[in-house]
This record gives sequence, structure tokens and C-alpha cells, in this order.
Amino acid sequence: MIQSLLIANRGEIACRIIRTARDMGIRTVAVYSDADAGARHVRMADEAVHIGLSAARESYLVGDRIIAAARESGAQAIHPGYGFLSENAEFAQAVIDAGLVWVGPKPASIVAMGLKDAAKKLMQEAGVPTTPGYLGDDQDPARLQREADSIGYPVLIKAVAGGGGKGMRRVGAAGEFADALASCKREAAASFGDDHVLIEKYILSPRHIEVQVFGDSHGNIVHLFERDCSLQRRHQKVIEEAPAPGMDAETRAAICAAAVKAARAVDYVGAGTIEFIADASEGLRADRIWFMEMNTRLQVEHPVTEAITGQDLVEWQLRVAAGEPLPLDQDELVIEGWAMEARLYAENPATGFLPSTGTLEHLVLPEGLARIDTGVVEGAEISPFYDPMIAKIIVHGEDRDAAIARLWDAVTDVEVWPVRTNAGFLGRLCADEAFCAGDVDTGLIARRGDALAQPPEPDAEQLADVAAALVGGGDGPWHQAVGLRLNAPAAAAVRMIDDGGVVRSADLSGPVGGPAQEAVLLFHLGEGREFRLHVPRGKAAGAASDGTILSPMPGRIIAVDVSDGQAVSKGQKLVTLEAMKMEHGLTAPFDGVVAGLNATVGAQVSEGTVLVRIEPPASGVAA
Ligand code: ADP
Ligand code: ADP
Ligand code: MG
Repeated sequence: MIQSLLIANRGEIACRIIRTARDMGIRTVAVYSDADAGARHVRMADEAVHIGLSAARESYLVGDRIIAAARESGAQAIHPGYGFLSENAEFAQAVIDAGLVWVGPKPASIVAMGLKDAAKKLMQEAGVPTTPGYLGDDQDPARLQREADSIGYPVLIKAVAGGGGKGMRRVGAAGEFADALASCKREAAASFGDDHVLIEKYILSPRHIEVQVFGDSHGNIVHLFERDCSLQRRHQKVIEEAPAPGMDAETRAAICAAAVKAARAVDYVGAGTIEFIADASEGLRADRIWFMEMNTRLQVEHPVTEAITGQDLVEWQLRVAAGEPLPLDQDELVIEGWAMEARLYAENPATGFLPSTGTLEHLVLPEGLARIDTGVVEGAEISPFYDPMIAKIIVHGEDRDAAIARLWDAVTDVEVWPVRTNAGFLGRLCADEAFCAGDVDTGLIARRGDALAQPPEPDAEQLADVAAALVGGGDGPWHQAVGLRLNAPAAAAVRMIDDGGVVRSADLSGPVGGPAQEAVLLFHLGEGREFRLHVPRGKAAGAASDGTILSPMPGRIIAVDVSDGQAVSKGQKLVTLEAMKMEHGLTAPFDGVVAGLNATVGAQVSEGTVLVRIEPPASGVAA
């Protein structure tokens, strides 16, 4: 067995790998960047080696430094986690050449599945059904347009080197193709250094179904059933579950067999995932499920498979890497119950899901209600350098309804402040009728739109408690304003303003005690709000946003869609910022005129930079 393991990753996955390694008696070595000097994975590991600056390309993506760290610390093996160097065949080869054990597939398998076009060709040869589309080398825009026309709209343009839901554009009609192609290529070049694309038929009623596979170095390959990852936002998974709702035994047998065939075609060793896209317009049918891509690594959502099979996939990875055969045969693997995972992100659904950075001053995760995989503790920083995931919340129940109920309980119990999260959004998703009925597809979240983004109002009782805490029993501003005395029967309404500028009133019911608090934090169904007294001062304090558009985080301007003096309408895209590996559109908060444009394409901007000012139209008042 491996005695010591270096984990070439950070965050929750580094912590998760360390946990299993420690249980197996393996010494663990963490690596860390400047920003992660105090991170949880560093503290959990037996040893930690500093590998560079905060930006991933100066640390977690520098293979040589990671291999040097392994040498220095005497680690025998390297586990890459997911993301970063996990699907980098050159790094895998360099690890092997350095005489270390690579916890992953053979470099040749990574190469074979690395580019989506080559992988699809290979799968076609192996007899695995693939989505219809164009995989050619000819990248001339006119040629691509002709191919798209002949496939028939809608189509999906995909960067062949893409991943993480980036470098993808759905095109609904021929007239939109050229623009979508340009923007897709721009994102692909920036994110993957490769702007080659393929074109696929856009599957209607699409469901993302994937199969966990596992191979060993003795030629055995098994599957560990499917996961459904159809609940997505902008092609990124939000909630994953296993098994897939509506999957019958026959269809399951067919896609799991196709997955094993795909893995065998690339001589697969270790943990891998075969992703399929299903046309679920008439339920799940084996003849309407096509290979999409293979992820040659451990997947973010592997815990749902662990929950339904009772297996520890990281333990399997480490055993296989050490040359042991797979721990179980296919017929020893069975599905028990239902599991779900929700990804808790540092992002704000109310502002179009912009990432939210800062210190996790208050962090309560529902430890007693769910398995929590996280890389942070209270007081940690969500920095703009890495993936904005705070935690994965994983539940297991006897059936799907039980799993959903548990997931709802867990996500609505989350308390995070002042960093914004999608916890409330996840709770509303768990309560969605179609989701609860198992009627899922990748467009569900987008169709729900504002209904899921809108937080529910706190109830009157909660507001009364907040009011009481703000007013206190003393002689504070509120008492002075309304002329109340200590312990006098309080009956007047208290006006409060929350951090979003919304003013509410609450009746004080009964005497008030304790000192007045300047600000009170209220958590309600996963949603955090901070309240202050709204003391009328002639002018509204903390009025809702003026027309100043600030950069919400450090990033690079990649498109400017307006010019000075231009009239814009509420919601219109002004500037596109690339930050935290994603493109973010900044939009007009109300109808008005561009009165100050301070954004140029290519400029690097810091958080809080004023990018655009929108003024209400001269004649009217902002809506
Ligand atoms: P998975 O299903 O394992 O997430 P993907 O192909 O969707 O696989 O994601 C690939 C990588 O992209 C993951 O390793 C993850 O680190 C990264 N990723 C996923 N979501 C985001 C996000 N919201 N922002 C940035 N990176 C992300
Ligand atoms: P990535 O490498 O970014 O994970 P994928 O090829 O796995 O890229 O696709 C990501 C998501 O995009 C899928 O989970 C699915 O929601 C959607 N998608 C991909 N291909 C298609 C298609 N042909 N039709 C409809 N949706 C698709
Ligand atoms: Mg994928």
C-alpha cells in the first residue's frame, strides 16, 4: 500500500482525500499557495509545502513545483483531485517519470478523452452512441455555419477543450450563429488556450445522466450506476442525485454497459465518469441517450454514488493506484436508497449569481443533518482566485422523497454572512414541484428564473424579534424618535432597513429588554439579511442602488456593449467581465442614459472600480 500521499489540490476535495488517506493510515502532504497558507486542507494534512503565489497558474497549476514538493516531503504518490492538473496528461506522465505513483488513469487514456471531438470519434468507433454533430478539423466560420444549418437548429457550439460548463453556446437560429461562434471562441481561447469547436445537435428535453466507472490494472472494469445531474445553471451542476429519477432496470443496464464499453475502449484504470445526454421528452429510453464526454478523474459529485453504494471511492482510487484489484465485483454492487448533493456556492442569486467574495465571518453548516464536504471554516476567506464553492451538502434517504426532504432541511439551515450564498435558492429548488415529481431537465432552473431567485419575506414574528433587538430597552435613537421610555408599553411600529435597502415595519409586542443592537442578522430559509433601524433623516438612508455600476470583483473586461450617452433599458447588458473563470454580464439597474463609461476591452479592473454610471432619463424618474 501507499505510505504517503501528496494531494495536488485545495479546498473541499483536498480535505476529502486527506480524510480517507488518514483513515487508511497513509501520511498526507498538502500543497498550498499564498492565499491558502491558513486553509483547512493545510491544517488537516500531516505536512504542508508552500508552492507559490495565489493565482493558480503560479501554484496549483505548476506541475514541476508539485513534483518537487513530493520529493522534498518524501511522498510516494500524488492524487490530483479534480480541476487543476487532474486531466493534464503531461503532468500525469511527469509524475510517473519522477518515480511516483499517479492516482489516476494512464496518461494515454487522459489524452484519448481529453478533447471532446477526438473522444467522440473514438466512441463512435467503439460502438458507443454519440450526439449527432460536426467534428471536423475545418474551423472556417462559413463551413461551421453550413454544418450547423444542416444539423438543424437549435445547435450547441462546444469548445473541444472545454470543461466546467464553459466554452459552450446554444444557438437557436441561423442568424445568431456567427455571434455565438465568435463569443464561444473568445471564451475558449481565454480559458483553455484552444479555440477549436465542435457542433452538436442541441438535444431537447435534455437530461444529464452520467455513469461512474472504475477500472484496475488487472483489466477489470465495473460501473457504480448512474447519477442524474440535470439541475444545472449555465451548464454547471447545482444539485446531483443518484439513482436517476425514472430510470428503469433495462435502460440502466444499457447505459451502464455503454459506459463500461467506453472505459474499456481507452483501457481505463481508476475512477472515471462517462457523461451522457438524454432526450427525455418521452421518459428515459436507451435509444435516446448519447455519449457526451468522459471525465478522467474523480468527479465533484462522487459522494452521491458513495452514499447509494456504501463505498469510499477515494479508498478505491488509492487501492487501485497501489496495484490492488477492484475491491468489489460488479454483482457485489447494489443501489441502496437515494442520495442528493447540493453545491453551496459563494454567489448572489439576487444579482444574477455574481460570485461573492470576502471573509466568512459567520458560517454554520448543517453538520448534523447531512454529510458536509468543505474546505473552509468560519473566519476563512472566499478569495477571487479559486472556485467559489463553499461546501457540498450530501444527504441519503430511503427513497427520493426522503432525500429531498433531508436536503431541504439541510440547505435551509445554512447560515453564512456577509458572503452571499445560493442556500436559499437551493431550498426553493428542493421545493419546486417539477423537481419533486422527478420531472427534471437541464432547462428547469432557467425556466423558473426569478421565482427561484426571489427570497421569501421573513415572517412577522421574526421581524418583531429583529425590531426588539434593534430598539433594545435603553434610551437609543428609536426611543428618542418616538418618545418612548424604558419599560413603557411599546406599541409603535419600528421601521427597519435591510442590507438590500428594503424598508419594513414591525410592531413591538410587549416590553423590550437588553441593550439596543446597531445591526441584527436574521437567517430565514437559508437567506441572510442584516437589519438596521430606519431613522427618518429627511433623506432616505441607504436608498436602493443609484446608477453606479461597480466591478463586483477583480477581473478583466472582455466586452463593452454600450457607449457614452446611449439610452439603455433596465436589464440591458452594459459590460462583460471575466472573473473567477466565468463571464459575468453587468446590466443596467433601471431605464436611463449612459453618463460615464470607464470600461475598455482588455482592461484589468479591481473590485469596486466604477465601470459605468447610468443616469435616469432627464424627463422622468427611474422606474
Ligand atoms: P464536475 O461535474 O466534476 O463538476 P465539470 O466538468 O462540470 O465536472 O467541471 C470541471 C471543473 O470545473 C471542476 O473540476 C470544477 O473545479 C470546475 N468548476 C465547476 N463549477 C465551477 C464554477 N462555478 N466556477 C469555476 N469552476 C468550476
Ligand atoms: P463540460 O466539459 O463543460 O462539462 P459537457 O459536454 O459535459 O461540457 O456539457 C455540459 C452540459 O451542457 C451538459 O451537462 C448539458 O447540460 C449541456 N449539454 C451538452 N451537450 C448538449 C447537447 N448536445 N444538447 C443539450 N444540452 C447539452
Ligand atoms: Mg461535462
